Amino acid sequence: MTDPASPPRVFLVGAGPGSPGLLTLRAAEVLARADLVVYDYLVPDRLLDLANPAAEAVCVRDLPGYHPDKYPLIYQILIDAAKAGKTVVRLKGGDPLIFGRGGEEAEALRTAGVPYEIVPGVTAALAAGAYLEIPLTHRKHASAIALVTGHETPGKPGNRLDWKALAAFPGTLAVYMGVARLPVIVAELLRHGKDPETPAAIVERASTGEQRSVFARLADLEQARRHAGLEAPGLILVGDAVSQRTPEPWAERRPLFGARVLVTRPAHQAADLVARLEDLGAVVYRLPAVGVAEPADFGPLDAALAEVRAGGWDWVVFTSANGVHAFVRRLDALGRDLRDLGRVKFAAIGPKTADVLREYHLRADVVPAATFSSEGLVEALAPHVAGQRVLLARANRGRELLRDELAKVATVAQVTVYDQTDEAEVNPAVLDALRRGEVRFVTLTSSNIARAVIRLFDETIRGRVERGEVLLVAISPETGRAVRELGLSVAAEATEFTGEGLVQALVRLVAAGE
Ligand code: SAH
Repeated sequence: MTDPASPPRVFLVGAGPGSPGLLTLRAAEVLARADLVVYDYLVPDRLLDLANPAAEAVCVRDLPGYHPDKYPLIYQILIDAAKAGKTVVRLKGGDPLIFGRGGEEAEALRTAGVPYEIVPGVTAALAAGAYLEIPLTHRKHASAIALVTGHETPGKPGNRLDWKALAAFPGTLAVYMGVARLPVIVAELLRHGKDPETPAAIVERASTGEQRSVFARLADLEQARRHAGLEAPGLILVGDAVSQRTPEPWAERRPLFGARVLVTRPAHQAADLVARLEDLGAVVYRLPAVGVAEPADFGPLDAALAEVRAGGWDWVVFTSANGVHAFVRRLDALGRDLRDLGRVKFAAIGPKTADVLREYHLRADVVPAATFSSEGLVEALAPHVAGQRVLLARANRGRELLRDELAKVATVAQVTVYDQTDEAEVNPAVLDALRRGEVRFVTLTSSNIARAVIRLFDETIRGRVERGEVLLVAISPETGRAVRELGLSVAAEATEFTGEGLVQALVRLVAAGE
């Protein structure tokens, strides 16, 4: 038997219906300390970002065998890992105990004496209600809701569903796993006296930017499904409450609803942009095109830090958030701290970089007011630095404009604080999505990123860009120029050179019918 005092080793966790934000706080907590995550096919990869970076992640799809045969193997993986002292998260779509076989997994763990915890999740029916604005219960139209499996073939022996009772049910029916058997389900409900006029719906991928739905009276639902080309998996809703829906639900009114957008920032910097795009309804793909690494040689940086300590520089200029992190981290690694920076002044290229300085309790003395680029920084900084000593803390590659322009009035040196590298591991599935034309918008958040991304384009993808099927959106005119130098054109450029400016450029593009 399980010792009641021993902490859970396996967490059976509901991942919710697809939108990452619908994960519970408890689920995020246990993911963050998992050693092993075993997740179902329909669970979005994005949720794995919340897992402990050292955790091993196994998708059930990749285990050998057909789906039903996999269960004994899944149990064994969970039990073995738990017994080896690992913390295991078993991540399942929606709620683990609603058509998720979570009960059977819990039983296997109980039998094996493995302590566990169950974390509930937002089940598909609730997501469909919220994201399509269908009141699942309604004072006038529905006094109950039934969660029904459509997996059991009506009329076949062994079928445990009472279709007569379901036809008479005084509320909303939410049928899971039923789309492939829709004609039989409808026939069975009608045969048992359900009104053919009953409002009904099919909802696919509720809560995500890929959400799609059809509405029809019950008798016409299959025809409407075929007309709209909706396929399994989907959720069927049947009941008078469906008539209370809002034709344009809030989720689908969002400015980027359904827009397929590629984010090319380095993985560790993409989260804010991805979350913002998803909040606006976009379907986000990620293809980090550049990575950030320690400089190949720390010598020059260490020497520069020693000079800063000795008062040899009046200004340190940062042109990226990465630069600030790398600079302060190196100071720390050398066993020094912020006191070494003494009276040196700081300039930041934009608000984001200034924010990162603030994280270290440092203030930028100069930030451009509007143009967050090298040009803007020159304009803002030049009046302050005449005759002074200015150190540019930067990546191993980038533009020379800042150095060249400031050198006209000040003593300038550059030091490499981090190396930018081309990403070695490019996700082939995302390149395929680009080739197939599935991705509509490619966001380019710096000139280097633009060059790295375009290097990854093959003839097919280039062709799609040239024909305007894939649209490139640049964070600034400078990034746009880098694109044009490589023979392609940009569909839009941000007018404020920040992540939010880029998002706004995209919103304008979509509003203009793209
Ligand atoms: N445990 C899950 C259900 C698993 S059964 C839950 O609680 O939601 C799989 C079925 O769930 C699918 O066939 C479909 O009917 C439904 N489903 C899951 N996610 C969905 C979504 N985002 N939109 C619509 N239906 C969904």
